[in-house]
Amino acid sequence: MHYNFGNYGLYLLLSIPALLLGLYAQSKVQSSYRKYSQIRISNGMTGAEVARKILDLNNLQNVRIEQVRGTLSDHYDPRKKVLSLSQSVYGTSSIASAGVAAHEAGHAIQHSKNYGPLSLRSLMVPSVQLGSWLGPIMFMAGLLLAIDNLALIGLVLFAATFVFALVTIPVERDASKRAKNILSSAGIVYGNEAIGVNTVLDAAALTYVAGAVQALSTLLYYLMLFTGGRRRR
Ligand SMILES: [Zn+2]
Repeated sequence: MHYNFGNYGLYLLLSIPALLLGLYAQSKVQSSYRKYSQIRISNGMTGAEVARKILDLNNLQNVRIEQVRGTLSDHYDPRKKVLSLSQSVYGTSSIASAGVAAHEAGHAIQHSKNYGPLSLRSLMVPSVQLGSWLGPIMFMAGLLLAIDNLALIGLVLFAATFVFALVTIPVERDASKRAKNILSSAGIVYGNEAIGVNTVLDAAALTYVAGAVQALSTLLYYLMLFTGGRRRR
């Protein structure tokens, strides 16, 4: 059998637009975050205070807020019910920190309301952690050894990575939508400050779209290798 791994033209055709979208989204996130980190919100609340207020308004007094190292390392852990904010978000009063803190509080609200896509995403975590590295190995081994079933299992394992990236998009968009609504309705941001919050959160949402497009381009390439290899035998 002769598998053609040399079809790089096709791979580049699929992956370069995805890569460019990813780079664009990253630079948008960094530039908007940098810009709006320097603009204070008029009510003077830090990210930690914003998150606490939103959580309390939603009867989530049991969710703890912690400070973590790094930049844009903010996240919510559903298992521990801990909302982790990066140092600059935690302790600074800015449009960016209010937006990020409210977004993470949005995930805690999703969790408390059993929001479907978040539950699905949490369920998928173990299989995706395995599939993202084992899938490609099994797939390539299957192609090299001409064991179709092995390649197919690898393909399916890797496909879970794409589905995961796809499910992440509504989860992130919904958390940002909740954040924007609550920030305005609770009177945390006023007037033009909402535009800054939208800019930061929309840029972040784009990175998740780029992630899904990248996973899809790799998956399509694998599919072509698989069907192309079978045809040649
Ligand atoms: Zn998020």
